Amino acid sequence: MRLLAVSKTWPAACLGEAIAAGQRAFGENYVQEAIEKSAELAGLGAATGLEWHFIGPLQSNKTRLVAEHFAWVHSIDRLKIADRLAAQRPPQLAPLQVCIQVNVSGEDSKSGCAPAQAAVLARATAALPNLRLRGLMAIPEASDDIGLQRRRFALLRQLLDRINAEGLSLDTLSMGMSHDLEAAIMEGATLVRVGTAIFGERNKVGEPPRAKCET
Ligand SMILES: *Cc1c(COP(=O)(O)O)cnc(C)c1O
Repeated sequence: MRLLAVSKTWPAACLGEAIAAGQRAFGENYVQEAIEKSAELAGLGAATGLEWHFIGPLQSNKTRLVAEHFAWVHSIDRLKIADRLAAQRPPQLAPLQVCIQVNVSGEDSKSGCAPAQAAVLARATAALPNLRLRGLMAIPEASDDIGLQRRRFALLRQLLDRINAEGLSLDTLSMGMSHDLEAAIMEGATLVRVGTAIFGERNKVGEPPRAKCET
């Protein structure tokens, strides 16, 4: 199981501590912020071997920067976005590793394709050049009910099993965050995306940037 350290809102210095502790894969939601941090870490000589994962909602006008600067995208929810990433991935880079985001709790406010659309979107995405479809991702509704958490994650696992039974060989279940990672691991997560439990509570929008990280 892989640990993705979700470093959104945290300055490069905080990532430096995690890098010193051996962490290499970082998740970010805002393209510009991630590019700036990566450049800052490169300036410090600390960027080698880092793997940047884009995990936030992805709009069409941001796909080029994501295709050029990230190793992974977890949040593909429609074919248009996959098409653009495939067309914009620089051919000299390794294929972009991608996951389809599925809305497993059915909330209108959550991004992700409907579970019933996941297989069709997966097949279409798997056929695109310059991308490698790795699996599925979900962000269920926040809940303290571990039974409910497990049912949401189980749905994602069953979807992956079904898609694989139909001929793909996907190896990634990107599920579980700070508050529900135990349930996700019990249901077979292969990659958990953890921010708060590593770096501490994030700033709210509008608060000044943090000068240091609290670990
Ligand atoms: C912010 C974020 C996380 C990390 O959330 P925590 O609760 O801080 O662990 C994981 N995945 C996605 C998609 C996120 O946006």
